[in-house]
Amino acid sequence: MTRNDWTKEEILAIYNKPLMELLYEAATVHRKHHDPNKVQVSTLLSIKTGGCPEDCGYCPQAARYHTDIEGNDLMSVSQVKAQALRAKSSGSSRVCMGAAWRNVKDGEEFDKVLEMVRTINKLDMEVCCTLGMVTENQAKRLAEAGLYAYNHNLDSSEEYYKEVISTRGYQDRLDTISNVRKSKVTVCSGGIIGMGESLGDRAGMLVALATLNPQPESTPINALVPVEGTPLEEQQKISIWEMLRMVATTRIVMPETQVRLSAGRTDMSREGQAMCFFAGANSIFAGDKLLTTPNPNVDDDMEMFKLLGLEPQKAFEKKSQPQSVSAEESKYKPLNEKPKWSRPGHTIVRNVEAKAKAKTKV
Ligand code: SF4
Repeated sequence: MTRNDWTKEEILAIYNKPLMELLYEAATVHRKHHDPNKVQVSTLLSIKTGGCPEDCGYCPQAARYHTDIEGNDLMSVSQVKAQALRAKSSGSSRVCMGAAWRNVKDGEEFDKVLEMVRTINKLDMEVCCTLGMVTENQAKRLAEAGLYAYNHNLDSSEEYYKEVISTRGYQDRLDTISNVRKSKVTVCSGGIIGMGESLGDRAGMLVALATLNPQPESTPINALVPVEGTPLEEQQKISIWEMLRMVATTRIVMPETQVRLSAGRTDMSREGQAMCFFAGANSIFAGDKLLTTPNPNVDDDMEMFKLLGLEPQKAFEKKSQPQSVSAEESKYKPLNEKPKWSRPGHTIVRNVEAKAKAKTKV
């Protein structure tokens, strides 16, 4: 049975169990709720890269930091379709489109994204978007276009979130998730470990996710990839043991959720990834890039699947394909709302320093 009343103490006690016990328990929960030999494969596509006004300390796409990434404007629908077809032919059942926006704004660009959603849905693939904060009406418009999932990560615990981002608050994240829940779109939400947070913060993030009712249908667990020029450029990479504990704990407290190995997989050996699959991870991001950071190539992943006897999960195995309504027949129209997303604006010293450093480099 899925519990929605987990406490931080309970989650910390699970995370800190002797490793063999933790893995055994997680693998047992995993087998009860999922086929342990199936792994869902998603391709992440950056449809609009860089130039983001936010100050997320881990992100090379924030305009205020000086990083090497090449930005691009919103891709065309035909470009996205070509990439989706490529992803499908290499074994992906889902395309996740990411745009470096603070929040969705009604207008031409959002209409184009809705058309991308319709196009990929027609390819019989699951479509996910990660576009920043959304209102209830925008979530319903995405649902109507045929969106399967919306990603909005909580990133960390509420307390540590304030140490990483100052341009929006934790409540904005929760409000967006709640707006998505008012539509038929499933929720994808997870976070990043290795940003300097404590074990208590990792448990705090899992409390926030596991006490959502219903829990997210998918949860990406990212390992920070420190990128030069970002405030977190000097963070030590986390070890496989920490990833393993986080995956296993997530599996135990969120038994039905698809737990996704996300950023940081290039630093994990096949043996390490195999242990994560054993501990309950049952999804990966495929493709040589994760938005802007490196990722193992698809052929390597498929070779690893063969070695481990894993099979890619088919599209719509967990939930049926959403119907897609054309723009002309849509019953939800743009409301041009002006939602009051917060902007706490507190000082995060390392973010301020990275911004100042970037100015001297331009
Ligand atoms: S994580 Fe998203 S919102 Fe934050 S700076 Fe990067 S692109 Fe912008």
